[in-house]
Amino acid sequence: MELWQKQLSQSAVKVKDLPFISDSEEYRQVLEKVGENYPIRINSYFLSQIKGPNDPLWKQVVPTAEELNDLEHEDLISDPLNEEGDMPVPELVHRYPDRVLLMINNQCPIVCRFCTRKRKIGFPGIVTRETLRQGIEYIRNHPEIRDVIMSGGDPLLVPDKELDRILGELRSIPHLEIIRIGTRVPGTLPSRVTENLCSILKKYHPLYFNMHFNHPAELTPEVEKACAMLADIGIPLGSQTVLLKGINDNSSTMKELLQKLLKNRIKPYYIYQADLTEGTDHFRTSVQKGLDILKDLMGHTSGMAVPYFVIDAPGGGGKVRLLPNSVVEHNKHEVVITNYEGKVFRYAQANGNKAVDRKTTVSAETTCQLPV
Ligand SMILES: *Cc1c(COP(=O)(O)O)cnc(C)c1O
Repeated sequence: MELWQKQLSQSAVKVKDLPFISDSEEYRQVLEKVGENYPIRINSYFLSQIKGPNDPLWKQVVPTAEELNDLEHEDLISDPLNEEGDMPVPELVHRYPDRVLLMINNQCPIVCRFCTRKRKIGFPGIVTRETLRQGIEYIRNHPEIRDVIMSGGDPLLVPDKELDRILGELRSIPHLEIIRIGTRVPGTLPSRVTENLCSILKKYHPLYFNMHFNHPAELTPEVEKACAMLADIGIPLGSQTVLLKGINDNSSTMKELLQKLLKNRIKPYYIYQADLTEGTDHFRTSVQKGLDILKDLMGHTSGMAVPYFVIDAPGGGGKVRLLPNSVVEHNKHEVVITNYEGKVFRYAQANGNKAVDRKTTVSAETTCQLPV
């Protein structure tokens, strides 16, 4: 057994395995109930990084009674992005014209308490070979698909040989230009990134990674080494972050995370507003919080460190980018903008209507004020 398999097999999966929880028998029984609704998994590597109760790693993986409280909240549902509704074949979401999401398993190195796929992740059961075959067949039969995102669960928990086979099948599809792997493995089970895994991955370029990091404490020396191995075999590394109340919903934590990612050759790609997923209400922040954080980042640090802030539109509308407003006024003569310091600038339009008195010609109809 390899180290990563051992760390996975020694996961905390029961209430009695959890670190830093109340001794109260009553509370433990509540957590047992939470665990029946939503599985628990903290692999032994991640467990060893948890420094105490309420630390940012602890909050992401240790269940709390709050998960049962919001089951009654009518806006929160089990599949808020309507992924099941956008599946032409099982475990494949075809929402956008030229790319698909292919879920190749339902297990993760840790089970995040705020998971958007809380309805299925960590439960027993597997994505069968037949299901996977149908997904790959669908891609083969749809020449408009030029980009596949392998997800799950976590694709990197699939054994080397099987991963090699799946990547090989996908690569045999001529119209499939790029393959992306969506994974939380490098940040939560870095021992999985072995020489052998790298020797498999590098055969399938162009291969991109979308990793998942929420807090700078996740970037331990082990994690930094795993990411370096992936970068060294030429995989462009990206990161996605969920905005989480009490974990990363402040500008200084977020800035530290994003700068640390860049330093490790990881390009921050998305910050997500938390989805309307059942059992996760207590992690949600206001949308304004995200916009305020973005405002504190843009211009204040490397542009490359600043990801897109998105809401994944409820019901399956896809990702929509939000920006703090920088347009004061926009008419046919000029655009009035503010910079990161709040200073105001005027940019003259190309139509050169200079002789006309601006004040008298600008009407309400020609003035566009962007929302927010
Ligand atoms: C996020 C997502 C994608 C990929 O979107 P990009 O903006 O291209 O990264 C594709 N399919 C689904 C269903 C998604 O949720």
